[in-house]
Amino acid sequence: MKKILLCSLCILTALQCREAVSSDPHGKAAPPSSTPEYALAIHGGAGTILKENMTPEMEAAYRQALDEALTIGEAILKNGGTAMDAVEQTIIFMEDSPLFNAGKGAVLTYDGHAELDASFMDGATQNAGAVGGVRIVRNPIRAARAVMERSPHVFLVGQGAEQFALEQSLDTVPNSYFLTERRIEAWRQTHPDEMLPQTGYQTDSRPVSDYYGTVGCVALDRAGNLAAGTSTGGMNDKRYNRIGDSPIIGAGTYADNATCAVSCTGHGEFFIRYAVAYDVSARMAYLKEDVATASDYIIGQRLVEKGGTGGLIALDRHGRIAQPFNTPGMYRGYVRPGERYVGIYKDE
Ligand code: ASP
Repeated sequence: MKKILLCSLCILTALQCREAVSSDPHGKAAPPSSTPEYALAIHGGAGTILKENMTPEMEAAYRQALDEALTIGEAILKNGGTAMDAVEQTIIFMEDSPLFNAGKGAVLTYDGHAELDASFMDGATQNAGAVGGVRIVRNPIRAARAVMERSPHVFLVGQGAEQFALEQSLDTVPNSYFLTERRIEAWRQTHPDEMLPQTGYQTDSRPVSDYYGTVGCVALDRAGNLAAGTSTGGMNDKRYNRIGDSPIIGAGTYADNATCAVSCTGHGEFFIRYAVAYDVSARMAYLKEDVATASDYIIGQRLVEKGGTGGLIALDRHGRIAQPFNTPGMYRGYVRPGERYVGIYKDE
């Protein structure tokens, strides 16, 4: 299993207001004077994302993809759409992008398949849905929302989840649809002289950089409702049928109108063990911490002490946004009326 470098110095302090973003992204600024009409934040994964390992073309492609994702989400919220629709559509775009470890472009399991996890939560009702270990569902976030809205269950996995997706007429694809050259290279590194089952392609050994790339979105709509979603291929070279935090409500995803909406990325086993997404909400509910304080503590202190790497995005009902991470980088962005932010590395 791949490891990412721990860097406790690189916590990006929560971005609480417009002024803070433009002048001091690391500072703790006062919250916005009034609640914005809408807000949306995204991540595209945290990990060993370093400028020196990135070509200018790759960096530009990531920035553009993050920006396009924000545009999709913002258009929905601006026009009075729901936070749930904004989250779903934004994540569908990121799943369809080969850049991120979700949907097309997902990392591969030890046995050479893309196996996808996703979850979705409505902060107004606290209804939730999730799918785990699906291999043929084109957009797992759609399936997660469908589980929430069209089944009596919260979490379906494997063949049962795929059967449900088929019954709901969701798009299905052969597993080879998800494969990209970059993920095949990553798989080759740990499987020299083996064949990828979908391609019959003989592998060789080449280095790849350590990397996570889950996608996530949190949104606040004009009606004051929060929603959260997360979608991933999981961790590179994971055992087949391994389930990470992303589809687990309370670990990788959480939403409660009374507190916040959260989506996580990182070493999933730690996020499960420390119930990271719920813990942000719980600290806000019980300790009366604000979203930035709660998120910073969880990612910058608690997880660091425990040896867990990653980050999260969190958004409260007042439109305050936190995006802390304890890795060298995290693909991320947010949008509120009149402001937009996209970042990759720790110093921006
Ligand atoms: N959290 C995901 C998992 O462990 C991986 C990631 O965020 O990139 O499955």
